[in-house]
Amino acid sequence: MPEMPEVEGLVAFLGTRLPGRVVTRAQVVAISALKTYDPPLESLRDTTVTAVARHGKFLDVRTSGADADAHLVFHLAKAGWLRWYDVLPPTPVKPGRTPIALRVGFDDGSGFDLTEAGTKKSLAVYLVRSPGDVPGIARLGPDPLDPGFARDTLAAMLAGRRTQIKGVLRDQSIIAGIGNAYSDEILHVARMSPYALAATLGDVEIDTLFAAIVDTLADAVATASEKPPADLKDAKRRGMRVHGRRGQECPVCGDEVRSVFFADNSLEYCPTCQTGGRILADRRLSRLLK
Ligand SMILES: [Zn+2]
Repeated sequence: MPEMPEVEGLVAFLGTRLPGRVVTRAQVVAISALKTYDPPLESLRDTTVTAVARHGKFLDVRTSGADADAHLVFHLAKAGWLRWYDVLPPTPVKPGRTPIALRVGFDDGSGFDLTEAGTKKSLAVYLVRSPGDVPGIARLGPDPLDPGFARDTLAAMLAGRRTQIKGVLRDQSIIAGIGNAYSDEILHVARMSPYALAATLGDVEIDTLFAAIVDTLADAVATASEKPPADLKDAKRRGMRVHGRRGQECPVCGDEVRSVFFADNSLEYCPTCQTGGRILADRRLSRLLK
């Protein structure tokens, strides 16, 4: 599940390859992945890529054509990924039993597929005239790696919000780019319970959380920026302190990393570092017991 650092890694990789390239093909294989129809995807052909950018967890390939500029925007969702080819297979992709959702080719023979594993399909592709035409981008909160994101930006976001900090960090309309994995990591670095209520954090805790957000993401982006797409997922997994490491030792204190399970995901935390030693209830189990 790519979050901001992995998307930033993809931007860095594509940003050195795509600008100046002419699009020679764009095939939607999973029809449900394409969320827009105007401009039509066929209009991408013969346009030239001018830039590659990120908005939250969205990737934006900007193109310039004879008629107009357009943005090929995509969101990889939970199980989506990008597969790069120095030489793209020339044959069209047959819809059906393939993880490929979209294939795009360029005039030097290179190209990429967007793929999505599993049966729950939520990878999304948009071809728009402006990134703001994508609803998920239009409602994005501030980006924590934007130079304008300051400690008081965070304080204003948290003020009056009587919801758990874990949920606040993952809410793209409040703060852009952080998902389940990096919110676990940030809260571990900040030594904060995922269930702490945002509005109750004091000045010192906000200072700590701000530093944890910026440092954790900046470190992860620096790591991701040197990796080809095929290595980004492993690099993400290896860099985690608590996320996805249930049952292993906390790298800070040696306590056992614990999970709380929800209907379709889980969070990880260290009791000693984050909850004063308290074990948080398993939400999935307690719902069954009700
Ligand atoms: Zn610990």
